Amino acid sequence: MGTRMAGKRTFHFDGLGVSDGIAIGPAYVIDTKNSQLESYHLAADEVESEILRFRQAIEMAKEEVAAIGRQVAEKIDPQQAKIFDAHLAMLDDPYLIDPAISRIREEQRNAESIFWSVTKGLGDQMAALGDDYFAERNHDLYDVARRVIKFLGELSPTAGQSIPRDGCIVIASDLGPAETAQFSRNHAIGFCTDEGGPTSHTAILARALAIPAIVGLEFVTHYIRTGDLVIMDGSAGKLILNPSKEQLEFYEAKRQDHMRLREDLLKLRELPAITTDGVRIAMMANLEFPDELDALENHGAEGIGLFRTEFLYLNGRGSASEAEHYESYVAVLQRMGNLPVVMRTMDIGGDKVHDSNFTPFQEANPFLGLRAIRLCLKRPELFRSQLRSMLAAASGMEHVRIMLPMISSIDEVRAARVILHECLDDQRAAGKEVPPNIHLGIMVEVPSVAILADTFAREVDFFSIGTNDLVQYTLAVDRINKSVAHLYRPTHPAVLRLIKMVADAGKAHGIPVSVCGEMASRPSLAVLLIGLGLRTLSMGPSSISAVKRAIRSVNMADLEELAQSVLLLSSAEEVEELLAERAGYWFSRPTEPPETVTSNQANSA
Ligand code: PEP
Ligand code: MG
Repeated sequence: MGTRMAGKRTFHFDGLGVSDGIAIGPAYVIDTKNSQLESYHLAADEVESEILRFRQAIEMAKEEVAAIGRQVAEKIDPQQAKIFDAHLAMLDDPYLIDPAISRIREEQRNAESIFWSVTKGLGDQMAALGDDYFAERNHDLYDVARRVIKFLGELSPTAGQSIPRDGCIVIASDLGPAETAQFSRNHAIGFCTDEGGPTSHTAILARALAIPAIVGLEFVTHYIRTGDLVIMDGSAGKLILNPSKEQLEFYEAKRQDHMRLREDLLKLRELPAITTDGVRIAMMANLEFPDELDALENHGAEGIGLFRTEFLYLNGRGSASEAEHYESYVAVLQRMGNLPVVMRTMDIGGDKVHDSNFTPFQEANPFLGLRAIRLCLKRPELFRSQLRSMLAAASGMEHVRIMLPMISSIDEVRAARVILHECLDDQRAAGKEVPPNIHLGIMVEVPSVAILADTFAREVDFFSIGTNDLVQYTLAVDRINKSVAHLYRPTHPAVLRLIKMVADAGKAHGIPVSVCGEMASRPSLAVLLIGLGLRTLSMGPSSISAVKRAIRSVNMADLEELAQSVLLLSSAEEVEELLAERAGYWFSRPTEPPETVTSNQANSA
């Protein structure tokens, strides 16, 4: 901490750098913990329309609550659905609604901030009673309030434009993937959060969008105000508030160097990822949103190794129509032409989409809960609708590649295959063309599947190793919890041995294996994966060139020897030491691969 510059004190904060790059600009602070509400004054002639907007939001919330209640009654248990009756009653409660309306009128302030303040007032009164019953009701009250505020957001005349100007660095207690995407569209140039871990979806998204990001800054939202000048270094995890003139000059030069380096790397776009002894590696991209397709093309991706489809549910409604699914898949498949596209079925749960449509009850451990394939098998109508859209979008194509996330036992694959076949039959019965080659693959991201990889390899068409979750589940380390981020180590020998087992099983059974977790996007880890037997890597588009450059500087004999050595080590530290030593040497050598490719060809799903 320290210096004084033009009367403003300079502060330094250290966090976890999760997306490279330098950003310099004004901060835009949002308090996501306290519902990220804007508070603003209304002109006298705006008051009545604000009250109307509030009433509409209440009606929309009521419709949603009633629909969820009906679903829960039908699909789960009518007894459990009663809670939604209580929520409906709250939405009609004059003690909650009337004071909000009076205060909007008296104070001439927007509905979100008034309604939140009324809710807090009531909530504090209930909490003061110190009674279990009221503690529960308090929880319901906030649930109801958040729902109304969500609809107010949709009805807001400025919805989607919450960043006041271009070039801001967003500072938040935490950011969900939807907010990250929305802010990036509104031209945020950096993200800094109090919370979060290295493979949280916000971090992944920031990397995909090539926007610098730092997580785990603890209380930074308490110190920084909107409009404060900040510098962030996403590689080092450093944030500087009120920088000195010297710091501004230093980081501006560093920012320009970084941009130049990025442009230089882009020159590799047309070159293959090939080792110095001619082994070709397929470089695929992970896609989070269809509007990343330009980036994917600019970075020379050879296909999509992981198309995450959760974005379809990040629209605030928590649901997506079959037509919306279909349109997105068609857009991606058409743009990619003959290049392979692996479409992953919805991986809802964990740190992704939270919506009472899917998990009506708060889960204590969402990463171990009703996530991904588990939700799909519990709610087959949702799964069917997604599969039908995928098949329809791929109609007329040679291949369709569908991947199931979070598989933990073979029964899930079998059950999913039955549903897929029913959908295929329906398509045929309706006279629709279906692709002749249906490839059904799985994410290998739960240790049970890696251990039984040889069994799974007999029943699926391809594997894609999801190291983000494989690390989390193998080491029992929550991937988004910054307190245990130091224990989250993809280099742990236990993880590396599991990866090797999967690569070997794929090879023995002749099915393609790729890696689509973040591990593939880090050059020194990517070459280690190649040493372990992988020939297809999938990563955020902006990482492709740096990984390609690393691949073009190594040879297979060295990589295989490295892989053998790390598998015998006993800790992540030892592995990282060895990797740093080898990678430091290899990546600095001026070597060029040959133009021809050996028979050890890349395989892709
Ligand atoms: C993974 O777990 O490595 C993966 C690619 O899936 P996601 O990050 O979407 O959970
Ligand atoms: Mg995963």
